[in-house]
Amino acid sequence: MNNLSLDMGGSTDAAGGLLKWLWGRKPEVRNPNVREELSRDDRFMMRHGAMVEDICEFLARAGLDPIPDHYELAWLYLAGASSTQRHMIEAHMLEHGGIAPVHATGLLDVMRNAISERELAQMVEKAKSDINEAQLTADRSGQEVANFGVALGISADSLADPDAAREAVIKLQNLTKNMMERAAKAEAELKERSKAMSQLKSRLVQSQKQALSDALTGLPNRRAFDLQLDEAIENAHETKQPLSVAFCDIDHFKRVNDTHGHAVGDRVIKHVAQVLKSCAGAKAHVARHGGEEYALLFENMNASFACDLLNSARARLDAKRLVAKDTNSTIGEVTISCGVATLQIGETGASMLTRADQALYEAKNTGRNRICIAP
Ligand code: GH3
Ligand code: MG
Ligand code: MG
Repeated sequence: MNNLSLDMGGSTDAAGGLLKWLWGRKPEVRNPNVREELSRDDRFMMRHGAMVEDICEFLARAGLDPIPDHYELAWLYLAGASSTQRHMIEAHMLEHGGIAPVHATGLLDVMRNAISERELAQMVEKAKSDINEAQLTADRSGQEVANFGVALGISADSLADPDAAREAVIKLQNLTKNMMERAAKAEAELKERSKAMSQLKSRLVQSQKQALSDALTGLPNRRAFDLQLDEAIENAHETKQPLSVAFCDIDHFKRVNDTHGHAVGDRVIKHVAQVLKSCAGAKAHVARHGGEEYALLFENMNASFACDLLNSARARLDAKRLVAKDTNSTIGEVTISCGVATLQIGETGASMLTRADQALYEAKNTGRNRICIAP
């Protein structure tokens, strides 16, 4: 049977014979606390003796020679086999009265290729957590992800069966791959949409700007002025700081249009706008209120300060003699008339504007090129 003259008649004798072959002698029982007295072999036997004896006993029961493959089969049977595998080996031994070497090879292959119980348990745990994760995601992400669980067609409980678990893991892998592909596609679409959204947003901001500004002069328009005025009045009533407004109108502008044409008239409107804006700086808001008329808002300023600023604009207009480029003809002096009103306690914006308009009317009626302050 082998060249080691091993007696395989009884399990105990077989084990004793194998140990004798392995280490030459059986370990003597010594005081385990006196480590230094033990040889390396003895220490090994103290740790692994029981296992070695079990392996020998298995080999004896199976009638197998002590060769490496058979040790491995015995070791796998004792240490790593699942209950199903143990049952398979026990049934084989019962039916055949042991294990023939040819069968040992086949059984070893089965044992080697089998997924260990621990590995299977890990896979099942992973599958369970994947399912739970998918279900959580489904709760969060709506119908498409909810379909994931349905498509999978398994529940965490059904994973007790190893074959079902393996099948489920493969299914999970495929479905996860599909979901990741869909997620990547959705992300790309989302990026595209957010790009379109930001373009739309900037177009919206642009058109909002356009809706509040005057195309010819670039100044805020009447609508923007009214909004600004509402806010300024609220602030003024709250802070008890002065607030003034002014209407400024180009004098005899109709003549400019009539004499030099509408295009030249436009350039004059732009010129007055630039002068007013540059004099106002950060101190006042200037808007084109319509036609050849401008509205100014002076926050924290009384009528006297507003007049100072308007007078500096009038002086600058006075200093400039305009010439129509195309015809080289002199436009002459461009003057403005202004009406100023300062907010009274509890007064509305509309009332203040009416008073400023009346003051402008007075400025026109009393000779133009001047500023009148509303009482
Ligand atoms: P006053 O001193 O009393 O203000 O006399 P005025 O001629 O300036 O006033 P009037 O209201 O009689 O004429 C204003 C003219 O302004 C009439 C209108 O055709 C012209 N106008 C209004 N808007 C524009 C514009 O955008 N461009 C040009 N070129 N002319 C305009
Ligand atoms: Mg006018
Ligand atoms: Mg005018």
